[in-house]
Amino acid sequence: MHESGLIQALIDTAEAEAATRRAQLVGIELRLGVLAGGSPAHLREHFEHECARRGLAGVELDIRAEPDYPGGIEITGLSLRPLAKSAP
Ligand SMILES: [Zn+2]
Repeated sequence: MHESGLIQALIDTAEAEAATRRAQLVGIELRLGVLAGGSPAHLREHFEHECARRGLAGVELDIRAEPDYPGGIEITGLSLRPLAKSAP
């Protein structure tokens, strides 16, 4: 199974949230439920490939596998760093 489309959608969501908050995306926390369909290591490979493709450097990925959770892959948290305010 290949989840690159799913990972792209997750990163799209995270980047949109960062842009809304005028912040830099520095970390994403994911929860993997029983429907996730891939191992954490495999999803991390997709994530790193997609970050490289977008030129995103240094985004930390925190994956928590919860096999008892009846869902798929969900974002449970974002780490954002406020962008420096430009001088007036
Ligand atoms: Zn895959």
